[in-house]
Amino acid sequence: MSSEERRGGPAAGNAEGAHGRPAVRPRTMMVHAGHGPDPHTGAVNVPIYLSSTFAQERPGVHKGYEYARTGNPTREALERHIAALEGGVRGFAFASGLAAETTLLSLLKAGDHVIVGDDVYGGTYRLVEQVFTRLGLAATYADTSDIDAFAAAFRPETRMVIMESLTNPLMKVSDLERVAEVTRAHGAWLVVDNTFLTPYFQRPLELGADMVVHSATKYLGGHSDVVAGLVVVKDEELGQRIHYLQNAMGAILGVQDSYLLLRGMKTLALRMEAHAENARRIAQWLAGQPWVTRVLYPGLPGHPGREILARQATGFGGMLSFDAGTPERAERIVSRTRLFALAESLGGVESLISIPARMTHASIPPERRARLGITDSLVRISAGIEDAEDLIEDLARAAGE
Ligand SMILES: *Cc1c(COP(=O)(O)O)cnc(C)c1O
Repeated sequence: MSSEERRGGPAAGNAEGAHGRPAVRPRTMMVHAGHGPDPHTGAVNVPIYLSSTFAQERPGVHKGYEYARTGNPTREALERHIAALEGGVRGFAFASGLAAETTLLSLLKAGDHVIVGDDVYGGTYRLVEQVFTRLGLAATYADTSDIDAFAAAFRPETRMVIMESLTNPLMKVSDLERVAEVTRAHGAWLVVDNTFLTPYFQRPLELGADMVVHSATKYLGGHSDVVAGLVVVKDEELGQRIHYLQNAMGAILGVQDSYLLLRGMKTLALRMEAHAENARRIAQWLAGQPWVTRVLYPGLPGHPGREILARQATGFGGMLSFDAGTPERAERIVSRTRLFALAESLGGVESLISIPARMTHASIPPERRARLGITDSLVRISAGIEDAEDLIEDLARAAGE
């Protein structure tokens, strides 16, 4: 299925229904989906409404806005935009990816059980394990790429599954349609963290997920200048529940960051294509180096997840990992690159490099890291949108004696 066919489907029709605009192809959607010119002034960009409160004509009679935690037009434009891109009915913007996850987990109550992907973002693991289990939630960590192991993790009180369809740094791929089937059969909600593929490459709601969550800090923002989280839900009932929690818990995204994020998201299509092409070329080059013992990129032939993503996504993303052979070489490379910044995070226009075991995944206990295969010689790359030749030369220079 071409990306055009996939994205011209029923979900694009949702976007159309909500805003009276024609169903369009992915790149057009990235620019136009959730908002048009400002009806009052014609401004092509959504104004930044710096107003914490909104005047009412009579008590309870207003223009749709009362108090900006509950709703603000700038944030709402962003929320409509992400809902349209993901093919959902409602979107919600939060102060960070983890604020979004905190709000989602608050759908649950003490005694409920949640299944979490065993290779999820370290902060997700920490949130569940250190915060929510203290409040009485039970959690099991399961490999969602192994359907039988995953299915065995369900309990009668399992209410939610949280997973990433493409994980990092190990680049494990899960069959979302099968994960969704099993989850539905157990009457639980499937939450997919779509930070890595973004709706440009994969739309989990169309594959059976109930909710999508993003660290918009990464690819959606795309310029390493905003921290934000987004949620999209598949139906109005969940929409009402999340809106209730968003307002009740208050972890909303501010209006200036909402504007920045909207601005970044308009170029998502162009950026994702450039990130993925650079990741593919770097992965290919690394695979030919004698000192590299393993390259993990789902777009490389032979990667176990390649076939699933070829069916359920329209691209392989911009992240890759490789084993530099020894921790010493890994450290040398990440300390000597000049174009790749040694930094946590990912998804910005600039390339980043890191050692997950010592940085992003340091909050995972060492035994658990070892069991998962996150070794001290594993190097993670977030491919930016620079010239691939320059990035490869930088790596070659850094790896040299
Ligand atoms: C960064 C990240 C998060 C957390 O998001 P923040 O915006 O940093 O709070 C969650 N999931 C994934 C996959 C991430 O990469």
